[in-house]
Amino acid sequence: MKYKRSLLKLSGESLTGEGSFGIDPKRLYQYAQEVKQVVEMGAQIAIVIGGGNIFRGLSGSNHGIDRVQGDYMGMLATVINGMALQWALEDLRVDTRLQTAIRMEQLAESFIKRRAVRHLEKGRVVIFVAGTGNPYFTTDTAASLRAIEIGAEVILKGTRVDGIYTADPEKNHNAEKLENISFEDVYNKRLNVMDMTAFTLSCENNVPIIIFDMNKKNNLKKVLAGENIGTLVSK
Ligand code: UDP
Repeated sequence: MKYKRSLLKLSGESLTGEGSFGIDPKRLYQYAQEVKQVVEMGAQIAIVIGGGNIFRGLSGSNHGIDRVQGDYMGMLATVINGMALQWALEDLRVDTRLQTAIRMEQLAESFIKRRAVRHLEKGRVVIFVAGTGNPYFTTDTAASLRAIEIGAEVILKGTRVDGIYTADPEKNHNAEKLENISFEDVYNKRLNVMDMTAFTLSCENNVPIIIFDMNKKNNLKKVLAGENIGTLVSK
């Protein structure tokens, strides 16, 4: 296995499966299965989950909801998703711990770096919820931040597309997929990998990012094995 400890970022939207809102149990189990497979191979894996399938602060503020209020609602949405994922994983007999950036002791541990690392060493999957705990951030930024904190070797951004293209592949047939790209090129070409705050954090702390299609069976395993199935962003 190329990467021993990694941080997997899953967007909230990816959990909707065929629908456009909420959580699709089929998709949830599919992801849990992928994670179980790599944990059984000895991978240490932490997950940051988004909340866009339930609520986004920014879209709320377009409809008159105070931005900060909306952002906290978005963070709580990630808790719901994290709990769903935890349940699916535990149902598949994978040990997990939920760690939250906003205290809620009945549901989850508070985020404590040393504890998170210890869980990983013991083979537990750690799911980080409530983003960074601060409004005006995203769960992508939470992913970069947590990856750095726990010493992850790589950030795996599981999406619906299989990597970064030279143009939008749905609009341009000549668009080519890139196997590797530098942080600098992503920045100069304004490619949309993660939002700028998240991207800058990863870049400055030199944590590579792999964009890959999480919806294809065995892809998580392949990525961790070092197969070139997505796009690797690195120094
Ligand atoms: N959010 C926040 N601070 C954070 C992480 C998330 O305020 O550190 C809020 C923000 O409103 C965001 C929502 O939670 O829109 C859901 O997170 P995100 O949009 O990142 O989810 P994803 O796009 O990954 O589903």
